[in-house]
Amino acid sequence: MDCIFCKIIANEIPSTKVFDSERLIVIEDISAQAPTHLLVIPKKHYDSILDCDDDLFMTEAIAAARELSKKYKVDEKGFRLVINTNEEGGQTVFHLHMHIIGGRQLTGQMG
Ligand code: AMP
Ligand code: ZN
Repeated sequence: MDCIFCKIIANEIPSTKVFDSERLIVIEDISAQAPTHLLVIPKKHYDSILDCDDDLFMTEAIAAARELSKKYKVDEKGFRLVINTNEEGGQTVFHLHMHIIGGRQLTGQMG
C-alpha cells in the first residue's frame, strides 16, 4: 500500500521514533508546528478515526500522550491532542494519527 505511515512502521522510510508498543508508534512530526509535535500512529492501517474499530487504540494513544507529555515536560503548561479527519478536518495523511502539540501558547484552532 502506498501509505507513508505504513512505510514508516515497516522501517522503509526513516522517522524519529520516541515510543513503540505492540499497537502503536509515536514519532516526531517532520514539520513541527510547535516545540513538541508528536504523532501517535496505530501500527494497523485505518484511513481515519471513522474506520478504526480498535477501541483499545484510543485508550493506549491517550495513555501514551499522557506519559509523553510528562517526558517532554509539556504536562504542566499544557498541550493539545488533535485528530484531523477527512478534507475539511485538515487531514493530509490518510492513515489515522493523533497529534500531540505543546511547548508554546496555542491559539484558538491549531495555533
Ligand atoms: P494531518 O494533516 O493531520 O493528516 O497530519 C499529517 C502530519 O504528518 C503533518 O503534520 C505532517 O507534517 C506529518 N508528516 C508527513 N510526513 C511525515 C513523515 N515522513 N514523518 C513525520 N511526519 C510526517
Ligand atoms: Zn497506512
